Amino acid sequence: MQELLERRQGLHRSVLIVDDEFIEREMLGAMLQDLYTVIYAENGMRALEIIRRDKLTLSLIILDLHMPELDGYSLLKIIRSDSELRRIPVIMLTSEKSAEVESLRLGAADFITKPYDAPDVVRARVGHSIELAEDSIIIHETERDELTGLFNKEFFLEYGRRLDDQNGHMPMDALVLDINRFHIVNELYGKDYGDLILQRIGDSIHALVRKTGGLACRSGSNTFGIYLPHSADLMEKLPKYLGEINDSMGDSKICLRMGVFADDGSKLDMDQRFDRAYLASRKLRSSYVTSYSFYSAELHNKELHAERLINDMDRALSEKQFKVFYQPKYSISGDKPRLSSAEALIRWFHPEFGMINPNGFISLFENNGLIQRLDRYVWNEAAAQIRQWWEKYGLYIPISVNVSRVDVFNPLLGEILRDITVRNGLENENLLLEITESAYSDQSQEIINSVSKLRKQGFKIEMDDFGNGYSSLNMLTSLPVDALKLDMQFIKNINESKKACRLIGIMIEIARLLEVPVIAEGVETHTQMELLKEYGCDIIQGYYFSKPLSPEDFEKLIEAETKEAKHADNG
Ligand code: C2E
Ligand code: CA
Ligand code: CA
Repeated sequence: MQELLERRQGLHRSVLIVDDEFIEREMLGAMLQDLYTVIYAENGMRALEIIRRDKLTLSLIILDLHMPELDGYSLLKIIRSDSELRRIPVIMLTSEKSAEVESLRLGAADFITKPYDAPDVVRARVGHSIELAEDSIIIHETERDELTGLFNKEFFLEYGRRLDDQNGHMPMDALVLDINRFHIVNELYGKDYGDLILQRIGDSIHALVRKTGGLACRSGSNTFGIYLPHSADLMEKLPKYLGEINDSMGDSKICLRMGVFADDGSKLDMDQRFDRAYLASRKLRSSYVTSYSFYSAELHNKELHAERLINDMDRALSEKQFKVFYQPKYSISGDKPRLSSAEALIRWFHPEFGMINPNGFISLFENNGLIQRLDRYVWNEAAAQIRQWWEKYGLYIPISVNVSRVDVFNPLLGEILRDITVRNGLENENLLLEITESAYSDQSQEIINSVSKLRKQGFKIEMDDFGNGYSSLNMLTSLPVDALKLDMQFIKNINESKKACRLIGIMIEIARLLEVPVIAEGVETHTQMELLKEYGCDIIQGYYFSKPLSPEDFEKLIEAETKEAKHADNG
């Protein structure tokens, strides 16, 4: 009874009752109408019309044996021999014992005897037949996933849409369940074990939807879709659901992730709900514990925006929407700060979104390799700029460019850079390469080899964000670098704590040990500058001196600087 009550909140299936006697139809209908959408037909011919019309949505047919024109047996035979109709289970209404055997022989799923049993018994038989039919391979084999017996994705979506239509689009929740790093399970323990895990999860999901009156599928090799009638307390139920699935796996090392779209009143299609659930699950990709995440519109908009930027990138490159800005670096070892070099920093002037800072797109492009094209563009621009300023002012102002970790793995990196310097008539040492410290820690030996090669070619390497990565002290001594660039975070805290100050002192010591200069970036105040100078820092970059500037604005700096230098010479 409890189960029936729970089912009442589930998706309504539709049931066709075929009986020529009005009273009989109504009595049976009354027992079922709370649980199902009930359709009536008063004779076999009319029934056949309805069955043909609703063949995709009918979940069950209840058929009286004795009717004028087309009787129950004949109709049953027609249904059973028609490949499009035979998936629909049929329950025969009989009053004779002898007819029961014949009905079953002809392929009826069950029979209900007249006069009717208690309503609960009738309901149980009807429910059971529907369940059995949905679970069985009478439904085309292609509609099922062989391993788990759950629906496959296409049928799941098709069937779910039909049920949605039929249920007046009642509120539904969509859940996507994934096994994190499943390929590793397969690799470590073999495919048979992997299959076993999938089967156990399948069984457990089966049990879940049976209880909630939902639907489920295996939608990918290790992904499951679960479509449930909306529950307001889903947030409380989820840990229980996940716990049950987890327990059934019997392997605590394997972790699951679940993305959830909870019905929010927006009348979405089933596939849109699942797209959103999937989006939510992607957030958990790198999780090492079983966890779940709810879809949020904010997350969705962020993804859409990211998608948009990726799409716009090509056009932006050809239309020169990307501009390289230059932030000056000042040498502070003398009595007066002197312009020594610059860092090239990209900006995107997007026709719709205005200026976008690199934090808005760099990591996005790093994830899909687009960064390599963008970086190349910046390197070219920077090299051309060095050349142009040399021609205009007779000075080589070294410019550092950012080299992302993806670039470092490119075996052709050295040649690409060389090609750029040659085309612009530069020496390799004019182009400084900033490589973030965390890149070194990833696959250290490979990176170290690649960077050493660049240095042999004459490029100067600055280790960016130093102190933020994970390089071991031990590794530091063998690092191929020409300068250390302190991570901005350290500078930020310098006023606040003695500890931060001492840390900076230590890092500068390390630089001394390696015999390379230290660059501090993110310097915003005079106090910070003075402190750093005291500690022996060589070069400063930060808002204290200047923000990153357009080439035109940077030229004003060069002009002021050269004027001053001349003045000093004359004086
Ligand atoms: P980064 O390489 O650490 O660059 C320094 C960032 O700090 C720049 O941010 C710069 O504008 C900012 N900055 C400089 N001085 C100050 C200061 O005094 N205070 C504060 N709060 N910030 C300061 P930006 O230009 O937004 O660039 C952010 C990051 O994007 C860069 O960090 C770099 O990792 C990356 N990036 C920028 N351009 C490129 C590029 O062309 N290629 C690649 N791969 N990455 C780039
Ligand atoms: Ca940098
Ligand atoms: Ca940095």
